[in-house]
Amino acid sequence: MSPRERTIPAPPVNPETRPFWDAAAAGKLLVKRCTACGERHHYPRAICPFCGSDRTEWLDASGRGTIYSFSVFRRAPIPYAIAYVTLAEGPTMMTNLVDCDLDALRIGQAVRVVFKPTEDGPPVPMFTAA
Ligand SMILES: [Zn+2]
Repeated sequence: MSPRERTIPAPPVNPETRPFWDAAAAGKLLVKRCTACGERHHYPRAICPFCGSDRTEWLDASGRGTIYSFSVFRRAPIPYAIAYVTLAEGPTMMTNLVDCDLDALRIGQAVRVVFKPTEDGPPVPMFTAA
C-alpha cells in the first residue's frame, strides 16, 4: 500500500452482514432482495425495511451505479470523497469514491465497484469512475 492511500478501518461484521463481507472478500458485491415485496435494499438487513418481511435473500449486484451525491474532504491529510451511489439494482449505498480525479466528479456520473483492503477485516466496496 502506498503512503498516499488512506488507512481504512475494518468494517463491523455481524451474522446479518457476514455473507456480504464474505462476498466482498471474493470480489463480489451483494444486495438484499425481499421476496415478499420485491424491493432491494442496502445496508443488508434480515428484515425487509420496506414491508417488514423476513423473506430476504442475497442477490449478486453488477457493481455498476451512478453518483447520487458526494462531498470531497480536501482538508484531510489525503483528500477523499464520500458519496451516495445508486446501484444499477436500485439501492443507494453510502461509500467512498476512490482512484479518480476528485475535481472531475459529478452527480450522475457512472461508477463501478472496487474493493479496498482494510486494516484488519474484509475489503470494503468503494467506487471509481466507470
Ligand atoms: Zn419487503
